[in-house]
Amino acid sequence: MSSDIKLLGYVAATLFFFMAIMLLLTMRQAGRIRGATLWLWSTLFAAIAIMLNTAQEVIPEFFGYVVSGVLLIVGPLISARGTFEYRYHRTYPVQWIYAAAALTTPAFYYFTFVLPSTAVRILLVAVSIAVICTWHAWIMLAGSALRRHSVGVKHARFRIPHGIMVLGLLMVAFVFFVRAVDTIQVISAGPVEIPRGGSPRTAFFFYSVGLAGRLFLLIGMVLLLIDELDHELRSLASRDALTGLFNRRGLTAAAGAAPLVNSSFLMLDLDHFKAVNDDFGHDQGDRVIGLLARCAQANLPANAVLARLGGEEFCALLPQSDLAAAQASAETLRKAFNLETAALGHSRQHTVSIGVAAAGVGQASLRELMERADQALYRAKHGGRNRIASAAA
Ligand code: GH3
Ligand code: MG
Ligand code: MG
Repeated sequence: MSSDIKLLGYVAATLFFFMAIMLLLTMRQAGRIRGATLWLWSTLFAAIAIMLNTAQEVIPEFFGYVVSGVLLIVGPLISARGTFEYRYHRTYPVQWIYAAAALTTPAFYYFTFVLPSTAVRILLVAVSIAVICTWHAWIMLAGSALRRHSVGVKHARFRIPHGIMVLGLLMVAFVFFVRAVDTIQVISAGPVEIPRGGSPRTAFFFYSVGLAGRLFLLIGMVLLLIDELDHELRSLASRDALTGLFNRRGLTAAAGAAPLVNSSFLMLDLDHFKAVNDDFGHDQGDRVIGLLARCAQANLPANAVLARLGGEEFCALLPQSDLAAAQASAETLRKAFNLETAALGHSRQHTVSIGVAAAGVGQASLRELMERADQALYRAKHGGRNRIASAAA
């Protein structure tokens, strides 16, 4: 192995240790992301494997060739397992990894001590890593625009960090693929012994582009953890803790995305809710609030944007819904809620009043729609509650 390549190897190993530390620190900040622990382990394994591989001339052959070879293959496998868990919220059997270790250990042992062959060892590592990294990229793409219909994906978000990881994985896969092809060409051209560092004509390409790919992968992992944290904080800030519906902030953000033309708006308020709390206790009051949220989800159109504005007040934005359709939805919800409250086991059923307003073809703002729906709600309350009332168009 030339001293330039050796230097690159030690630099790479050191860099991976630092990246593992960075990953660890980011994980501590970002909290639990499925699969991330396995990424951390694989990064450590990669650092150790490259360190052993680079030092193979000065350490026992068993570590320099056998252990490093096995770790070079098991590391990417563990990493792919992490991504599998991240995407699918389940893992494939850990036995696969044990099996990979159990199969590769004797192979590396054989081609180190019984029939020593640098070419075969390099081929073993290169083909395995090229396949594993391509497969890993494939898993990361599950649920993305490229693999929209993949089955069983629990987490389909695909943003720039995911793309950086895929790019890094494909770079690594490509580099090992080139290395495998190059090694085959060299050995098939004649009885030349491949030097320990691999075929020299691709060595620099291999180390530089391969290292860049690994760095992309690690940077992608760190950015992904930050992205997940950001996503979680945003969703915490926009959701109501009791019902999981949007809060006022979430409603404004979600409604801002949809055009209000031809939409309708419902304003809901539980009837005599103070009495519900007084008669059955605050916990039972919370159950009634939760039930109204579930009834709204079940009975309003699927594209409705639901929010709990506070206390026992809810609202719903119904896109592409005229006044008649909105009134019909509101009436269905009102009846369904009243029926469902019987299952709470209270001595009386509960009711909700709903105000309806339609935006029509005008340029109504969310605030105007809310105000008009609120005035209609006020009339529903004064008209005797447990009813819907509509704002004039
Ligand atoms: P109306 O029919 O006119 O709407 O009468 P109401 O009693 O429902 O109206 P009001 O707005 O005066 O009372 C709302 C009550 O809701 C007061 C408050 O104690 C209760 N409340 C607000 N937030 C919560 C909550 O998160 N959980 C529970 N259990 N009660 C809440
Ligand atoms: Mg109220
Ligand atoms: Mg009320």
